[in-house]
Amino acid sequence: MDYIMAPPSNAVILFNGKDLSNWQTRSGGTAGWEVKDGIITVVPGTGDIMTKETFTDFYLHLEWMEPDMPDAKGQAKGNSGVYLQGRYEIQVLDSYGIEPPGKGDCGAIYNQYAPLVNACKPPLQWQAYDFIFRSARTGADGKIENARITACQNGMVIHNNVIVDGVTGGAINDKVLEPGPILLQDHGNLIKYRNIWIIPLPLKGSDKY
Ligand code: MG
Repeated sequence: MDYIMAPPSNAVILFNGKDLSNWQTRSGGTAGWEVKDGIITVVPGTGDIMTKETFTDFYLHLEWMEPDMPDAKGQAKGNSGVYLQGRYEIQVLDSYGIEPPGKGDCGAIYNQYAPLVNACKPPLQWQAYDFIFRSARTGADGKIENARITACQNGMVIHNNVIVDGVTGGAINDKVLEPGPILLQDHGNLIKYRNIWIIPLPLKGSDKY
């Protein structure tokens, strides 16, 4: 399959192209989305799916495709979402051609930050998301530093190290200091996903000169 970006050798493959054995529902049940020819398709009504494994800091890549819904508008047009750590939704929506994109459009950190630019392709084309995620942590002053997100859509920077305000709607919980899964949203539309992989990142580098 011609992926937009093949997994590097150190990537953890979250979707193996064959089944959803690395995934589960929010309540720990069997993930109900369809897998065919190396592609996952949302099965509306079966609920969100999330990885069994949890992560702290990471680089995440995934590819997705919007269905063609010419008569649908706004939040009803190809809605899904990628929740980093299960807590911060990056919107998945058909926002092709919408200028300027808003806080609910594709690429937005939902209801917090609009994407810097509209990087959307039309429906029925594969698109790529790449995220660099820095988890919330306890700072030197003992206070919580919120998570930071850098994001690219189709190779364009849509978030430049933004500090989130907190979890977004639909988060699995607000225990932001705990590791969390990657969660994909069932919003009732037939979004397709493929080529999902992650590279866990060390929390800091060496202090050696
Ligand atoms: Mg959504």
